Amino acid sequence: MRVAIAGGGLAGLSCAKYLVDAGHTPIVLESRDVLGGLVAAWKDEDGDWYETGLHAFFGAYPNMLQLMGELNILDRLQWKEHALIFNQPEKPETYSYFKVPDIPAPFNVILSILNNNDMLTWEQKIRFALGLWPGVLRGQKYVEDMDKYSLHEWLQRQGIGERVSSDIFIAASKALTFINPDEVSATIILTALNKFLQERYGSKIAFLDGSPTERLCQPIVDHIVANGGEVHLKKPLKQILLNDDNTVNGFLIRGLDGAPDEVITADRYVSAMSVDVMKVLMPEPWKAMPFFQKLEGLEGVPVINLHLWFDRKLTDIDQLLFSRSDLLSVYADMSITCKAYEDPDRSMLEFVLAPAKDWIDKSDEEIIAATMKELERLFPQHLTGDDPAKLRKYKVVKTPRSVYTASPGRQAYRPDQETPIANFYLSGSYTMQQYLGSMEGAVLSGKLTAQAITNAPVSTPPEPKRLVASSN
Ligand SMILES: Cc1cc2nc3c(=O)[nH]c(=O)nc-3n(C[C@H](O)[C@H](O)[C@H](O)COP(=O)(O)OP(=O)(O)OC[C@H]3O[C@@H](n4cnc5c(N)ncnc54)[C@H](O)[C@@H]3O)c2cc1C
Repeated sequence: MRVAIAGGGLAGLSCAKYLVDAGHTPIVLESRDVLGGLVAAWKDEDGDWYETGLHAFFGAYPNMLQLMGELNILDRLQWKEHALIFNQPEKPETYSYFKVPDIPAPFNVILSILNNNDMLTWEQKIRFALGLWPGVLRGQKYVEDMDKYSLHEWLQRQGIGERVSSDIFIAASKALTFINPDEVSATIILTALNKFLQERYGSKIAFLDGSPTERLCQPIVDHIVANGGEVHLKKPLKQILLNDDNTVNGFLIRGLDGAPDEVITADRYVSAMSVDVMKVLMPEPWKAMPFFQKLEGLEGVPVINLHLWFDRKLTDIDQLLFSRSDLLSVYADMSITCKAYEDPDRSMLEFVLAPAKDWIDKSDEEIIAATMKELERLFPQHLTGDDPAKLRKYKVVKTPRSVYTASPGRQAYRPDQETPIANFYLSGSYTMQQYLGSMEGAVLSGKLTAQAITNAPVSTPPEPKRLVASSN
């Protein structure tokens, strides 16, 4: 079957990969001139990479690891020490470690909590460890039921004190969802914790050894093309064309650079675009259907990714760090953590700025000025005094609508990959799968879409009339 897929992020690429593996012919149509969507990266004028997001991989990413294994690129993951590391704003340039010992789960994570003496008192540790038990013992059903509460409300119900909430969960919530614990659904953090508590290496973190565009997306594309599929850049979906029975007749692709619009037809159609774009391109007759109406309950969250190149090293830590700053979320010195960004003498700090709603409309200069102020608090020895480190250059990448906003109650709005339209499917980390708005979620959603297409009865949709086929 010929399958047209709008969107060349991880979901669209994973969908196409599993479709060619099943003997189908996917045609990926990506609107931009770069692959990867939220993992897209670019080279600046000096040849330095900058990215849409600082991306960490976890041991508890079975579908991503399987995909990379199938593409023979697992060695591109640079695994770090099994630990979660937090800045200590009250003791600048010191770090608090949750070191996870190499013993079976969940005892490894529990021991890492019990062994941390910087951030938690014994009473807090015991309350924290006990508070996590319902999620472990009662499984995913309990975790899903907690979607009615914000993380903050859930922590209060579990009797887990404010300090744990403010110290650990603000950091976790900002890192995973780009919003604060009073805004985020408890289900999100409990799902992540559950994965970490159930798998020995679930919380182990890896970085890719280079840019996701080159080192992760390109091998997927190579596999798709080598097996008869197609991947096209600069092919924005403009309109979903319908038959009289509301099934899809074709994808109208906007012609760029003076080229005329064209229609791509196929046997099945997939939107692997973000939920925000899908809502805009929703055909009028579908808007009345409850399945598609649910998408109105989902909306991408703003986030900003910052890159700061300094004239010297600010840290020697080869790991993701939780900044515990109001403005910033997680960060890493990519000159250490990522092989292709390596610099033995100078730091390149990559930060996620979240929550970003108050910053997304501000100028790059304002954002960097505020970030530098925050960094002076985190790294006073390096950034204040007689000979402070100099900021050589910076890049700010703003994403006004990234992954879906994971506020309480959103689980009910996340759609299945199969839709009421017989020849139309959805893919994307916002669609329903167990791994939330993450790379793992995107890859899993693509795989689920490919399975749904492969397993669907062949006779359901009418054979489309082929109008024009793309050919580059
Ligand atoms: C700052 C940041 C940090 C992150 N950190 C992590 C992390 O550490 N770990 C993790 O697992 N996840 C992380 N994520 C989340 C992860 O990147 C996403 O969940 C995942 O990449 C989403 O993939 P997707 O394919 O579902 O959607 P997208 O990546 O949004 O892909 C949608 C694609 O559709 C294309 N498109 C849009 N409109 C059209 C159109 N009209 N026609 C054709 N194509 C169109 C877009 O250009 C895009 O390529 C992070 C995200 C951000 C922004």
